[in-house]
Amino acid sequence: MEQRFQVKLIAPIKILLREEKKIVITTHHRPDGDAIGSSLGLYNYLIQKNHNVHVIVPSDYPSFLKWMPGNAAVINYEKDAEKSNQLIAEADLVFCLDFNWIKRIDKMEAPVRDSKAIKILIDHHLEPENAFDHSYSFPDACSTSELIYEFIIAMEDKSLINKSVAECLYAGIMTDTASFRFASMKAETHRTVAKLMEAGAVNYKIHELVYDTNTESRLRMLGHCLKDKLVVLPDYNTAYISLSAQELDYYHFESGDTEGIVNYALSINKIMLAAFFSQKDGEVRISFRSKDDFPANELAKKYFEGGGHKNAAGGRSLLSLDDTLKKFLEILPEYKTLLV
Ligand code: MN
Repeated sequence: MEQRFQVKLIAPIKILLREEKKIVITTHHRPDGDAIGSSLGLYNYLIQKNHNVHVIVPSDYPSFLKWMPGNAAVINYEKDAEKSNQLIAEADLVFCLDFNWIKRIDKMEAPVRDSKAIKILIDHHLEPENAFDHSYSFPDACSTSELIYEFIIAMEDKSLINKSVAECLYAGIMTDTASFRFASMKAETHRTVAKLMEAGAVNYKIHELVYDTNTESRLRMLGHCLKDKLVVLPDYNTAYISLSAQELDYYHFESGDTEGIVNYALSINKIMLAAFFSQKDGEVRISFRSKDDFPANELAKKYFEGGGHKNAAGGRSLLSLDDTLKKFLEILPEYKTLLV
């Protein structure tokens, strides 16, 4: 495979990082495993080069991601906007990880746009916004964490991939590939994962920390979804699950609890498209998953103000939950030829 981060390509960054810098690392709203893994992986690398580094997230993230080294230093913009604004305004560099559009950092958008800092994008989503001083966008990468590994190698800093860096990047790759099973997982990525294990990431421990943290109410909510809420539409090879705000309340919903539920719908034999709808904070949030060539991101973009990857996308709707489901059912005929 051709190297993504050619040494020549990142020469400007190498020069910037030669002297001590004030650095802010940020990532998308409602951060997932790759967002936190890549941010803290980069953080644990840059602090070894004696920079002044802060990770600022636009919103909170699930507790199963809070074990990563450096987590205690992460600043949540929603809880500490004043300090965050100051750090962003005074930063020399802002690393923007795992998102393509600045609006994906939500309330941090204006402070980041207004900051005089040099903005560096490292990401694997399609069609990045032209708003960065240096843009490293590689949609063929399985995760931003994989790109951070390649970035550090291209910086000729392999020796700085210590246990802390390795654990964060391993977790990011693992979660963004659903445990190394997506088509985005190339042979080269397996080699990267092996290198991270050699650097100290203990694979089974990280799986336990991320995946074996269910609460009883989360498992019962999953049971409710599978037994009572799963709708299968054989004519469209489509399946979906929806949860109302009342149902989430009943099961004591916590951030991250609904993560991955959509994959159960997709796991049904012959299902090509799966969707999960949940009603939160006055809107309906939607996760789409698909198989093969079905463009879940196009559907999300056209009808649900969203986007993402071909096989994994998200969107939202300001309609009621019932009307959102109705709308979803009405657009399926348009995609029938791609689904069956
Ligand atoms: Mn990602």
